[in-house]
Amino acid sequence: MINWNALYDRLREQMPSLELRRDESMARHTSFQVGGPVPIMALPKNEEEVQQALSVAVLEFGVKPFFMGRGTNLLVSDRGADLLVVKAFDGLDRLELLPQGEWPGRSTILAGSGVSLARLSKFALEHGLAGLEFAQGIPGSVGGGVYMNAGAYGGEMSQVVSSVSSVSCPSEEFVREYVNPQFSYRRSQFQGQDDFILRVCFSLEPGDPAEIRAKMEDFARRRREKQPLEYPSAGSTFKRPAPVDGEPVYAAALIDGCGLKGFAVGGAQVSEKHAGFVINRGGAACRDIVELMAQVRERVFRETGVTLEPEVRYLGREGETWNF
Ligand SMILES: Cc1cc2nc3c(=O)[nH]c(=O)nc-3n(C[C@H](O)[C@H](O)[C@H](O)COP(=O)(O)OP(=O)(O)OC[C@H]3O[C@@H](n4cnc5c(N)ncnc54)[C@H](O)[C@@H]3O)c2cc1C
Repeated sequence: MINWNALYDRLREQMPSLELRRDESMARHTSFQVGGPVPIMALPKNEEEVQQALSVAVLEFGVKPFFMGRGTNLLVSDRGADLLVVKAFDGLDRLELLPQGEWPGRSTILAGSGVSLARLSKFALEHGLAGLEFAQGIPGSVGGGVYMNAGAYGGEMSQVVSSVSSVSCPSEEFVREYVNPQFSYRRSQFQGQDDFILRVCFSLEPGDPAEIRAKMEDFARRRREKQPLEYPSAGSTFKRPAPVDGEPVYAAALIDGCGLKGFAVGGAQVSEKHAGFVINRGGAACRDIVELMAQVRERVFRETGVTLEPEVRYLGREGETWNF
C-alpha cells in the first residue's frame, strides 16, 4: 500500500520548486477530456527535477511513475489511476539546432520531450529542414511521439529520429543514449521499458522552405477537411490492421463499412466525419468510450473477421483493464 501523503511530503521537502498537484483530475490533461484523479502529478521544469523525482519515488518509496506528454493518446478510467504521473510539458522545452550534424549533408535538431510536435516541425521549417512536415498536425509531444512512433501522410518518427536520451527506473541517476532506436508501426522500443524520454535528436536534410511550407499547409488542410478536430478525441482510436493479400486495410473503412458512423454510447460517438475517430460529443465518461470501442470491435470482427487493436492507451486502477 503506497503512502501517497508521505511521498508527496518527501517530494515537497526534497524539491521545493517542483510543481506538484495532489488528486489531480486526468480529464484536465487528456485530449478526450475524461478520466478521474491520480494521487500525485509532478510537472518537472528541467531534467534534474525529473531525475530527483524518480530517485525519491523509485528508491525511497518503490513507486514506478507513469510518464505522459500531452495526453493526446490516453484514455483514463473514470475512477482514475493509482499512479504518480510525471508529465513532460513546457519545462522540458529545449529546442536547438546543433552546430554540427552527425552525417554530412544533414542537420540535427535537439528537442526536449515536452516540446510539442507542432513547434518542432515549425522550427524545422524555419531552418529550412525537411522531414518533419508530417508531424505538424499531430497534437502530441516529442516524448509521446517517439514512444508511439507517431506518423501521418507517409512520414513517421522512425524516419527522422537519430538518438534518444532517457532515464530509466530504477537506475535513474544515469542518462542513457539510444542511437538509432528500434521502431515499427506505432511501436518503439520504449514501450515495455521504464524509461522517461528526456530529449531526442532528429537528423534532417535541407529542403526548400517554400516546398516544406506547402506540404505542411496541405496536410493541415486535409486534417481540417477529414478529421473531427472540433471534438475532444485521441485521434485514430484503433491501429491500422495488418494488410490482407498485400492490400492495406484501414480501421476507419471497416467501421464505416459496418454502418457504424454516428453510432453512440452515452456521450461517446463514432465520428460522422471520420469513422476512425471516437469522439467525446459532450459529457462522455471513460466507460462510454470503452463500451463503444468494445461494441465497434465486436461488430467489425463479426462482419469482417478482422480484430481491431486499440491505438489509444488505457490507464486504470490496479486490476482494471479494457473490458474486451
Ligand atoms: C486530433 C488528434 C489527431 C491525432 N493524429 C495523429 C496522427 O496523425 N498520427 C499519430 O501517430 N497519432 C495521432 N494522434 C495521437 C497522438 O497525438 C500521438 O500518439 C502522440 O504521439 C501522443 O503524444 P502525447 O505527448 O500526447 O503522449 P501521451 O498521450 O501523453 O502518452 C502516450 C504514450 O507515450 C508515453 N510517453 C509520453 N511521453 C513520454 C516520455 N517523455 N517518456 C516516456 N514515455 C512517454 C506515455 O506513457 C503513453 O504510453 C492524434 C491525436 C489527436 C487527439
